[in-house]
Amino acid sequence: MLADLINFSTEGEEAARWSLANMDLHRRSVAAAFTQKNKTLALYTVDPIFKNDWGSWLLNHQQMHNDLNVLLGIAGNDFSELNVNDKVALGSWTQLHFEEHRQQLAALNLEE
Ligand SMILES: [Zn+2]
Repeated sequence: MLADLINFSTEGEEAARWSLANMDLHRRSVAAAFTQKNKTLALYTVDPIFKNDWGSWLLNHQQMHNDLNVLLGIAGNDFSELNVNDKVALGSWTQLHFEEHRQQLAALNLEE
């Protein structure tokens, strides 16, 4: 659920919860894009988080955000770069990502 995206970490239980929730939101959004807009969008596997290939994880995840934003007419954010060791950057990335998913869910009339 959307609320699970509020806290993001790449380690431990919090990471697992965030990762699962994010994947679920992307899966539901891609399904809704198909049923509501008759559009087939690519679904990338972003759960679990690829800690050993962080760059690919960020790009695949960004692609899903971009595809859906174009379809829904949402001005999206750039989530393709993130230094998880930078707490300030991590905090704003997490907040913007949460908000963008909220916008996408609203545009698709999906539950948070
Ligand atoms: Zn996402």
